[in-house]
Amino acid sequence: MTRQYLVAGNWKMNGSRAANAELLSGIAARVGSVDRVELLVCPPAVYLDSVRAALPVGVSLGAQNLSEQIKPGAFTGETHGAMLTELGCRYVLVGHSERRSLYGETNQLVADKFSTAQALGLIPILCIGETLEQREAGQTEAVLREQLAAVIARCGIASFGAAVVAYEPVWAIGTGKTATPAQAQTAHAFIRGLLAAQDATIAGSTRLLYGGSCKADNAAELFAGADIDGGLIGGAALKASDFMAIADAAQ
Ligand code: PEP
Repeated sequence: MTRQYLVAGNWKMNGSRAANAELLSGIAARVGSVDRVELLVCPPAVYLDSVRAALPVGVSLGAQNLSEQIKPGAFTGETHGAMLTELGCRYVLVGHSERRSLYGETNQLVADKFSTAQALGLIPILCIGETLEQREAGQTEAVLREQLAAVIARCGIASFGAAVVAYEPVWAIGTGKTATPAQAQTAHAFIRGLLAAQDATIAGSTRLLYGGSCKADNAAELFAGADIDGGLIGGAALKASDFMAIADAAQ
């Protein structure tokens, strides 16, 4: 089963009209040479509309978060999934470790967001990963299993036919510490095995991204892993030359 590589930029709470325009024009200048990799940018919600208007052809748009609410209404400060699809989003991140650790998102809430995303026409990118303490305590597999199981229990294994999973070891996010290619591949193979235990066909088609200080100089060796289908990129997605060099590494 061939899976198309996906390289996704999570801009987090960064950007301005001027900075976004510069970043998008840098991506546009290089996008023609990246024809085998799907590219995705996930700007802050307030910029989705203006980013879509300047989005280079062939680049997808995604959001960083959505409300778990299936119906719009009195939820101050929240963003409904249908608003994201109306603005042209194809993807949405769910369960990013910053959402889990800073905003108290539980496995249950993440599963609800995953479900709502799909119900409203978005492809969820489910982020899972262990902290340093958990890795050192030998709990990596248990954490990954638990985070994935919550979504499988809520949405069913078939839902992964229209979803992406990002393995993001928390200790590697924004720290400059990257998982070794072997550590990353081992975790990805474990995740694919968990999916395969439920449905081998779905497992073979689900794209698994690596995230955590992925940069131009380590992307190729990470993406060489048999179960690694691209990357979720934070810091290095803020500079077009870095982001596109990572995309080149996935070609
Ligand atoms: C992320 O935020 O998903 C991420 C992987 O960040 P960074 O690349 O900066 O580690």
